[in-house]
Amino acid sequence: MSEGAAKKEEKPRKFHATRGTRDLLPPETALWNRVEQTAHEVFATFGFGEIRLPVFEPSDLFVRSIGQETDVVQKEMYIFEDARGEIWLARENVRNSIFRPAERSSVEVLKGFLNDFQVRIQAALRSGEVEHDPGQSQYYKYFSDGVEYFNKLVVKDPSVPLQFLDKAQEEIERMGPFLKHAIVGVRIGSFVVLRPEATASVCRAYIEHGMQQLPQPVKLYYMGPMFRRERPQKGRYRQFYQIGAEVLGGSDAPAIDAEVIEMVMAFFDRLELQGVQLEINSIGCRDCRPKYVELLRAALLKVKDKLGPDSQRRIETNPLRVLDSKLESEQGIIATLPHIAVHLCEECAAHYAAVKHQLEIRGVIYRENWRLVRGLDYYMRTTFEITAQGLGSQNAVCGGGRYDGLVELLGGPPTKGIGFAIGEDRLILSLQESGKAPAQQGRDVYIAWMGERAHATAIRAAKDLRKAGFSVELPPVEQKFGKALGQADKLGAKYALILGDNEVSEGLWTLKTLADGSQAKYTEPDLLAHLRKSL
Ligand code: AMP
Repeated sequence: MSEGAAKKEEKPRKFHATRGTRDLLPPETALWNRVEQTAHEVFATFGFGEIRLPVFEPSDLFVRSIGQETDVVQKEMYIFEDARGEIWLARENVRNSIFRPAERSSVEVLKGFLNDFQVRIQAALRSGEVEHDPGQSQYYKYFSDGVEYFNKLVVKDPSVPLQFLDKAQEEIERMGPFLKHAIVGVRIGSFVVLRPEATASVCRAYIEHGMQQLPQPVKLYYMGPMFRRERPQKGRYRQFYQIGAEVLGGSDAPAIDAEVIEMVMAFFDRLELQGVQLEINSIGCRDCRPKYVELLRAALLKVKDKLGPDSQRRIETNPLRVLDSKLESEQGIIATLPHIAVHLCEECAAHYAAVKHQLEIRGVIYRENWRLVRGLDYYMRTTFEITAQGLGSQNAVCGGGRYDGLVELLGGPPTKGIGFAIGEDRLILSLQESGKAPAQQGRDVYIAWMGERAHATAIRAAKDLRKAGFSVELPPVEQKFGKALGQADKLGAKYALILGDNEVSEGLWTLKTLADGSQAKYTEPDLLAHLRKSL
C-alpha cells in the first residue's frame, strides 16, 4: 500500500461517551437547573444546609457501610487504584511485555521496563506517594527478586523479540513465584471507589468534622453524580445523579422521619411531579429483625424448590432481599410469607405507628408495603420509596430510611440517622413525560448590525441589554439584514434590534417584533424602558 493510501485509511477514531454515561444538553439542562434550584429552596425552608462531597472515597467506606453482600458492592462498584499515570503506565508496560509479548518486546525492552517500574515504585514508596502497606511487602520482595533474576538472565541476543527467543516463555514461566505473581499483586496506590451513593460519605464527614459538637440534629443535603456499574437501560445509568438529604444526631423521634418524608413530598409537589406514590415500611431493629429474618429463612426453605436461582441463593445470604423479587413466578409464594409488621419488637412497633400518625397529621398520603426492604444493609426501622409516573419498570424516584447504627459502624459515636436519595435522572424523565419540561429558551434580542460604526454601537447595546438581564445574540460578523432576521427567527428571538448607519447617526434604533413583523424606533433609554415593560 502506498503511503498516501495508508494515510487515507487512517481515519481518526471517533470518541463516544462511555457506556452508561451521557451528556446532558440544553435545553434539557435548563430543567435540571430548575429542579436543583427548587431543591435548594425547598430544603432551605426545612433548615437543611448543603454539603459538597468528594466524588471518590476509600473503598472500605462503602464496603463497610453498604454491606459486602449487596449488589451495589458485589457487582456495581467502580473501584480503582489511586495511582499517577506514570507509575500505572510503567506497570502496564511490564504487564504487557510479560503477558502479551509484542513483536518489539525483547529481553532488552523487558529489562528496561522492569527497571523503570522498580525505580518509580521505590521512589513512590520512599516519598510516601504510595502508602507502605505491610501486606504488600512480600510482593515487593518477589518483584525485586524477579528483577534481579531477570537482570542476570543471559541470552545470546537480548534484542531478539521475546516470542522468538527460545525458552523465553519458559524462562518467564519459571519466574512464576517471583515476577508474574508480583506484577499481578503489586499495588501502586490505595483502592478508591467512585461513590455509588452519598449517605456513607455524609456520615464520614459528620465524624471527620466533629459535627456531633453542633446543635443536633445536623440537617444536610447534597446533589451530584453517583456511579454504579449496572446494565444500562432506560432510567438506569452508570453515571447518574442523586439529590439527597440526611438528618444526623439528636433523637429518633418519629416526627423526624415524618418531616423528612414531608420535605421530599413538598419538593415533588413544587415541581408538579405527576403520579407520586409513597410507600412505607418498618424493617425493625437489631433486636427484632434477626428473629424475623430467621423466621423468613425457615419459611423460604420450605418453598425453596419453587424459587428461582437468585432467590434460592438469597435464602442463605440475605433472605429479606427475596421480598424485593420482581419475578412473576415468585409473587404467589412471596404473598404467603410472614409479614414483618407482626414481628416487630414493642419499641419498633410503637415507632412505626407513631411515624404513620405523624404522616397523617402532616397530610402526607402513604401506602404500607411490607415487602419494602431496600437493598442496602444499613437501614433499620422506617424505610420508604416513592414512585412517579411515566418511568416504566424503573419507576422509583426516591428511596430512603433510618440508619441509626451507621455512624457508629464507621467509627463515630452512637448517632441516630435518617435520609433519602432522589434519582434526579428519573425525576427529570418523569417531568418530561408529563410535559412539565420548559420549552427551549429563545433569545430576547438579536442585534442585526451593518457597518463598522454600527458594530461599535451594537457591542455597547449588547453590554447594556445584558446588564439589564436580557439574553442577547450579537453576531460576530456583519450580515445582510435579510439573513440576520432569518437567523434571529431560527434562534427563537423575540426582537431584532436593527442597527445600520442611519440608526447610528440619528440616534434612533429600530426594534422589530418578530412575532408580527411590526417595527418602531426608539432612543437608547426609551428602548430599554420599552423592553423592560414588554419582556
Ligand atoms: P438507592 O441509593 O439505590 O436507594 O437509589 C435511590 C434512587 O436513585 C432510586 O430510587 C433511583 O431513582 C436512583 N437510582 C439508583 N440507581 C440508579 C441508576 N443506576 N440510574 C439512575 N437512577 C438510579
